[in-house]
Amino acid sequence: MGEKINVKDIVRRKKEDLKKEVEALKKEGISPKLAVILASEDEASKIYVGKKRKMCEEMGIGQEEYILDSSKTTQDVVDIVKKLNDDKSVNGILVQLPLFKHMDMDEVLDSISDKKDVDGFHPLTLGKLFIGEKETFISCTPKGIMTILDDICVDCEGKHAVIVGRSRIVGKPISQLLLKRGATVTICHSKTKDISVFTKQADILVAAVGKPHIIKADMVKEGAIVIDVGINRIDGKILGDVDTENVLNVCDKITPVPGGVGITTVLSLLENVVQAAKEQNNI
Ligand code: NAP
Repeated sequence: MGEKINVKDIVRRKKEDLKKEVEALKKEGISPKLAVILASEDEASKIYVGKKRKMCEEMGIGQEEYILDSSKTTQDVVDIVKKLNDDKSVNGILVQLPLFKHMDMDEVLDSISDKKDVDGFHPLTLGKLFIGEKETFISCTPKGIMTILDDICVDCEGKHAVIVGRSRIVGKPISQLLLKRGATVTICHSKTKDISVFTKQADILVAAVGKPHIIKADMVKEGAIVIDVGINRIDGKILGDVDTENVLNVCDKITPVPGGVGITTVLSLLENVVQAAKEQNNI
């Protein structure tokens, strides 16, 4: 019988470390600060922005918000980003996605300075990740997954990591991080003929699909580490991409949903803000 990874405890410990790091930086006259731009009416986005604000306050990280209404254009958002790029008091810039439908996401993300790209979606940031450069920001969900794997001491070297999903925010970056750690990586997606052929071989299985319980127990290798990234809202309940209760009979460890990968995301963002503050002050 496998076990659910206690991600809440991991996050609690990491938050304590981060808070101490922020306090130490402040003693040296450095106050990390995040700027958040919200340009949408999306209710979930408003909740996420609220969560980020609350955790910044908890960690002692400064935060400022730019809330734009639908009369604003892509150029308006880009103008704010450019102003923030030049503002020395701001270390990290986050544009909450999705934007209003009439706005061009790529144009906005491309305008963020790679030095302040704490969400890690700028093409240059992703490019650095792909060539394995150390000094780059790792996007928050993949970074959170690595935090979990490191905390439970998973040695990726020589392991077969299978990732289901190839998105820019999860599947692709996590594939590169696992590759960098010496795993043999397979990426499955909607055009893969039979994903179970691959998932059954996975020592480390990452499910980032957005389909409730698509990963069943008979698709998982005995003793696998399973990372469930999926967040699916069904009848008021949140379900992952993995049929956790049955997969627990096969796997070694699995992240729960809710209370799993999702709760590492804001932590990773604020870790990136602190990293940005240190790099911008040559620490
Ligand atoms: P996405 O952009 O919609 O990508 C989904 C991926 O799954 C695509 O690559 C798609 O393949 C693939 N896919 C779809 N149906 C499939 C199938 N039947 N078999 C195999 N692959 C299939 O989603 P995302 O943004 O990566 O998010 C994935 C899930 O993670 C969602 O539930 C989302 O809510 C959740 N999420 C959670 C966090 C967190 O913090 N925990 C963060 C981000 C996302 P194609 O490329 O071929 O279309």
